Amino acid sequence: MRKRRVVILGATGSIGVSARKVARDIPDRMEIVGMSAHSNEEKLREAGQEFPGAKLAISSGPEGVERLVELATLPEADLVLIAIVGTGGLRPALAAIEAGKDIAVASKEILVMAGEAVMGAARRKGVKVLPVDSEHNAIFQCLEGRNSGDVRRLILTASGGPFRKWPVASLAGVTPEQALKHPTWNMGAKITVDSATLFNKGLEMIEARWLFDVEMARVEVIVHPQSIVHSMVEFIDSSVLAQLSVTDMCFPIQYAVTWPERVPNTLPPLDFAKLAKLDFEAPRVDDFPALQLARWAGETGGTLPAVLNAANEVAVAAFLRKSCSFPAIWETVEQVMRQHRSVAGAGLDAILAADTWARARATELLF
Ligand code: NDP
Ligand code: MG
Repeated sequence: MRKRRVVILGATGSIGVSARKVARDIPDRMEIVGMSAHSNEEKLREAGQEFPGAKLAISSGPEGVERLVELATLPEADLVLIAIVGTGGLRPALAAIEAGKDIAVASKEILVMAGEAVMGAARRKGVKVLPVDSEHNAIFQCLEGRNSGDVRRLILTASGGPFRKWPVASLAGVTPEQALKHPTWNMGAKITVDSATLFNKGLEMIEARWLFDVEMARVEVIVHPQSIVHSMVEFIDSSVLAQLSVTDMCFPIQYAVTWPERVPNTLPPLDFAKLAKLDFEAPRVDDFPALQLARWAGETGGTLPAVLNAANEVAVAAFLRKSCSFPAIWETVEQVMRQHRSVAGAGLDAILAADTWARARATELLF
């Protein structure tokens, strides 16, 4: 039985709170040795009182990234959970890999932006990248022990977000309050807006491409409003494996921590009689352009996924501040992508430069 000594970057967020819950639930298997917050000192202090041995760091301010890198490379840690919203977790994630630590990734943005670099570094160092995003954790479970040549398609499930049934004409009037009401998951603001535009699923398509080393054409999306089937893998014999659980991020977080083992917990089992039915429907790709934009970015590769991600981050922040409309999020992303000349085979420097360029370009377009 292995006990994991875990650093949580972004310990005060939605994923961070769930990760601390997992640590309380399976203390024999998970010990928290470090935690960061960006600016919420009070919440971090409270978390520190709960796990007194853990080193704490605040990541806002000029030396913020260095503090994150210090935590990510703590000698006593063997697993670093990246639960920072946006791309702020990229440097600490690479530092953790260089220090020989496994990483558990919730921050899909870093895999969208620099998936090739992160996965390549992990392969070179022989460390594991464990997916925490529920869809990818599900696929990871379905793929275990399988031959990659036997896989035909990865099928990501999507809740469809709060506007799944809204007529396209009404989307122009969507307010942040409406977008922040997710039908099935309770998450941070940025990912909740991403779920409403379907950019979350678009980012997840690219995330899957890198995590599982499959081309974009074999990554598909199906809407499943109950969020009980977390994703599926179809094999060459047309047989499909799916992973199911109650809608709670503690499930994928725990599996990332205890992998490759399973341990009992206090999480609720599924009650199939109560569920009664599971629905599936095709996504509205014409009304929600995020999926096609993501497919385009993922197929082109190079710096384009970083550009999509950066423009989206800027546009979501503007939407949350009520500086732009809901459709302006994907309109801005598309414009910035069209103006970008993707650099093929881009290294980390070119990716970071594209990220900076796209943020500036999106800001110009929005303001
Ligand atoms: P939250 O907004 O709830 O939390 C974000 C965390 O990151 C907080 O601890 C915050 O600190 C910290 N943080 C914010 N900005 C920065 C920064 N620039 N540098 C360093 N730290 C920062 O987000 P979520 O927990 O919802 O999401 C975290 C990541 O996990 C995202 O990438 C998201 O896409 C992904 N994810 C989330 C899921 C969920 O259920 N929430 C599901 C699947 C993936 P502070 O509190 O001080 O601001
Ligand atoms: Mg997800």
